[in-house]
Amino acid sequence: MDFDTTLAEAWIRAIAAAVDQEQTRLTELDSAIGDGDHGSNLRRGFTAALTALDGLRPDGPGAVLGKTGTTLVSKVGGASGPLYGKAFRAVGAALPEAAAPAALAEALASGLDAVRALGKADPGDKTIVDAWTPAVAAFRHAAATGADLPEAAAAAAEAAEQGARDTVPLRARKGRASYLGERSIGHQDPGATSTALIFRALAEVTAG
Ligand code: ADP
Ligand code: MG
Repeated sequence: MDFDTTLAEAWIRAIAAAVDQEQTRLTELDSAIGDGDHGSNLRRGFTAALTALDGLRPDGPGAVLGKTGTTLVSKVGGASGPLYGKAFRAVGAALPEAAAPAALAEALASGLDAVRALGKADPGDKTIVDAWTPAVAAFRHAAATGADLPEAAAAAAEAAEQGARDTVPLRARKGRASYLGERSIGHQDPGATSTALIFRALAEVTAG
């Protein structure tokens, strides 16, 4: 199984559903170390992405993710909008019409590069990067050792979830939470948490 247009659309729909379901949790996490809008930011963004996809006749998975990214950039005011927006655009731009696991791994790595180019966060700064980095590593490793798409995506989702949990003891060094200094310690990062939702959604849709 390759990652194609149908799977790309299913992925965005699954993310929108997950964000909808977990909105309160994301908001609570962002209330603890931010301004409490991460859940509503992502809900607004992915709801708009669904509307945009309804009117689209995509010529490949890249077009689906590109449209999603552009919509997130324009509809989400918070830091996460441009970061996720650029990430999805970069993943989309790197995708062939049907991506084998290794090709999807490299496209997801391009998404991480885009987040880091814009946000300048390193691993350990308590951001999206702390979930996306281990997810890419796990996806790559799985693909390189012969895993199929559902297996690679499941490994990436596990790694992203672990990465999100591992942000709890970290002190935030980027974004709004960094203003709290030491007081950001002891809370899970909202953006790393939503990245885990994004990778879990990919695992779900590829599992069929
Ligand atoms: P805002 O912080 O503008 O209110 P959100 O609440 O939507 O935006 O998103 C907050 C999340 O964005 C944080 O939990 C963090 O994971 C992520 N984030 C913030 N700044 C950066 C950055 N420079 N690089 C990567 N991720 C970041
Ligand atoms: Mg916020």
